[in-house]
Amino acid sequence: MAERNLHQADPEIAKLIDDENVREHDSMRLIASENYASRAVMEATGSCLTNKYSEGYARKRYYEGQQVIDQVEELAIARLKELFSRHASGGGLTGAEDDLHVNVQPYSGSPANLAVYLAFLQPGDVVMGLGLPAGGHLTHGHSVSITGKYFKSVPFGVRREDHRIDMEDVRRLALEHRPKLLWAGTTAYPRTLDFAAFRSIADEVGAILAADIAHISGLVAAGVHPSPIGIADVVTSTTHKTFRGPRGGMIFCKKTHASAIDKAVFPGLQGGPHNHTTAAIAVAAREALDPSFTVYAQRVVDNAKVLAAGLVDLGFDVTTGGTDNHLMLLDLTRKNIAGKPAARALDRAGIVGNYNAVPFDPRKPFDPSGLRIGTPAVTSRGMGKVEMEKLAVWIDRAIGSATDEAELGQIAQEVKDLCAKFPAPGLRI
Ligand SMILES: *Cc1c(COP(=O)(O)O)cnc(C)c1O
Repeated sequence: MAERNLHQADPEIAKLIDDENVREHDSMRLIASENYASRAVMEATGSCLTNKYSEGYARKRYYEGQQVIDQVEELAIARLKELFSRHASGGGLTGAEDDLHVNVQPYSGSPANLAVYLAFLQPGDVVMGLGLPAGGHLTHGHSVSITGKYFKSVPFGVRREDHRIDMEDVRRLALEHRPKLLWAGTTAYPRTLDFAAFRSIADEVGAILAADIAHISGLVAAGVHPSPIGIADVVTSTTHKTFRGPRGGMIFCKKTHASAIDKAVFPGLQGGPHNHTTAAIAVAAREALDPSFTVYAQRVVDNAKVLAAGLVDLGFDVTTGGTDNHLMLLDLTRKNIAGKPAARALDRAGIVGNYNAVPFDPRKPFDPSGLRIGTPAVTSRGMGKVEMEKLAVWIDRAIGSATDEAELGQIAQEVKDLCAKFPAPGLRI
């Protein structure tokens, strides 16, 4: 007797998954941290590897039966080493493939970052990172995060005039507060990071430099954003944003820090690794090693530039005036609408982004002035310049008619018609 499939076993959840497939197919996915993982990545994620316990690391496990799992994890690591060595920066710290250590076990980006704290800091030590309101991440020391509660956080910001990170200010703060850990990483910042400048500040004050490339790891892997590999002591990342893998995390470090990082991940923070995720990370790394991924990453950036320019032409205030990467931040003050109602209106129009604080935002974090959008997902569908130009116009129309349900519905239909021409990877439609 055949085993029941999901539709037979649980029609309620099966229906909800079908509904989400349709939603993801029919709308413009502009959330900068989202993407469409491939069918191959999905298959690995949904495999029997989810059944296996394998606490420890390859060839040093606590349970038997690791004949296959060890190979999966070693393959994931080998591919990531090859991939991220390609565009490693000079400095000779971790750049050479044979001095690069990789841990693929963090459950996601936030646990990967926690492992860095556990590996190098004691509670109460000073940590510096870009503040949340300026585009930093919660785990870089924000007050509501464990990283801001258990450590002394000194956030740096962006310049008032151009909303860019001011490396002189970072240096001044670092000299004053002597952080033990310095984060170079962002979650809502549209410009290139100067990892070498962070390195020299970290050296000046004796800090560990951790680069968090959660958003940009796909761009870094493809060489379209400078790489911190070879510069930072540790590099953390998610695997599901521009990297286009499964939901997961990874950590790169030089060999001298390998043991501290590995021990922090397991047994410090986690139990058994998610082997199905590890396999899917290996699949994503293989995809990223293919020349087509470099083309993809370049198109993500090209599309973001076209979309930003289109929005500027339509009178939008794009912070810093544009973008170097996959995302942009719109300050909607000039459009007389706050971020939240704008994001809601766009969602009604089939264009999905997120409300976001802008630098020096006078409004509250739950009701900020801005909107964050990005191009990784729509680029995975094969959309290009023409579609980005259309998107800019739709965004302008939807924000200009935020309370006009008929107009929003009309835009949603036009969006859906366009989406029908661009099948999304991984969906089951
Ligand atoms: C997304 C993100 C994370 C956290 O990733 P999760 O997988 O959501 O835990 C960490 N750092 C940065 C910079 C991010 O953008």
